[in-house]
Parts: sequence; structure tokens; C-alpha cells
Amino acid sequence: MERILIIEDEVKIARFIELELGYEGYQVAKATDGRAGLDLFKAGLFDLVLLDIMLPGLSGMEVLRRLRQFSQIPVILLTARDAVVDKVTGLDSGADDYITKPFAIEELLARIRTCLRKQKIASAPADLARPGNEFLTAGPLRLDPVGRACWVGETSVELTKKEFDLLECLLTNKNIVLQRETLLEKIWGFEFDGSTNTVDVHIRYLRAKIEEPFALKVIHTLRGVGYVLRDELP
Ligand code: CA
Repeated sequence: MERILIIEDEVKIARFIELELGYEGYQVAKATDGRAGLDLFKAGLFDLVLLDIMLPGLSGMEVLRRLRQFSQIPVILLTARDAVVDKVTGLDSGADDYITKPFAIEELLARIRTCLRKQKIASAPADLARPGNEFLTAGPLRLDPVGRACWVGETSVELTKKEFDLLECLLTNKNIVLQRETLLEKIWGFEFDGSTNTVDVHIRYLRAKIEEPFALKVIHTLRGVGYVLRDELP
């Protein structure tokens, strides 16, 4: 299930979009100011952001600028009517698309689908879109998302599907703290009604395979919060 973050201070518009996206089967979270939106983004795993430009506190453009420092997630800007400068600046700043308020919900849904499709193609296997096979790494740890292989140094490590997915998720979000609930949703799905202990158990399996035998320390626990993967300290 794809997750969309709405950052919009006009409560009625945000609520309307949330409901419509919900009907379409998207998982939705919303924030009413820029700073809260950015915090929410960092705490969760989203597939797309709908970002209003005129926001209190941190402006939409500033949110976009900061977000682009660490994420290439698709961003669709919500702009006021005829704000041509906004649109140009927005696209220059790394927005993927924009839509002018007021808009027909069908148009927004179409643009969301297009953005998500482009993103999928961009992150498709190497032979389809990427120039070379890109490994995810942290120190001597190396993950090949396409070949689904894992190494520590030159040693190949066998991982189960869930262990691999979990490690890939941690590596993709390197240096970002992931809540256990977020990992549970992302790896096991929203429908899974297990407890967050499942995450802890799989983290233990991972540590036993990729850390302990190699005296490596890259997965860090934040008690009561979740996990973060960082490059090994020198
Ligand atoms: Ca606004």
C-alpha cells in the first residue's frame, strides 16, 4: 500500500484530500505546518508528498529544499491560482509536479499515479533503468537489491526474505531513525496483526548474521523508538 503525506494548513482541503486518497486505497498522513510535516516525513516511510506552498512557519519551498537534501521522493506542490513564480521556483527546486488550487480530485489522482509510476520505473532493476547495479552499503556491509545478495567484506551472507527486506529498508534510510511500527508496516504490511516484537526478533537475526561474526556495529537501537543504521564509526 502506498503512503502519501499531505502537508497543508487549510484543514478542510487537507481533510478532503485525505478522504479521497483513502477511498483510492492510499495510506494517508497529514501535517498542518511545514515543520511538523518535515518531522513526520523523517519519522515515517512515504511514497509521495503533497506539499502546499503557502504554509505557516516553514514555507513549502523551504520544506522542499530541506527534504531534497536527503530524499528523492516524488513531491507534488499545491499552489494558489496563477502563482506562476511559485510553479517555476517549485519545479526548479526539485518538485516533480504541481497542481493549482482549486483542482478537480480526478486530476490530482491522475498526477499522483503518474508520479508514483515514474518513481517505480526510476527504482526498477538495473537493466531496465539504472546505468549500473547500485549497491547499498555501510562500511564493509554491501547489499545488492537487484540480485538480492548480501556481503560483509568478501564474505557472502545468506538472508531470509524478511531479513533482506528489513536490511534493505534500513540501508535505504541510512541515518534516519525508523520506528518499529513503521518497519512493521513497511516489511510485514498494514494487514499484519503481529506485534512490534516481530521487528525486534528479526533485528536480532540480522545482528547474528551480519554484525556478530564480523565484529561489525551498524544497526543501532533507540530504546522505545526503533532502529537506525549508521556507517560504522572509524
Ligand atoms: Ca496554505
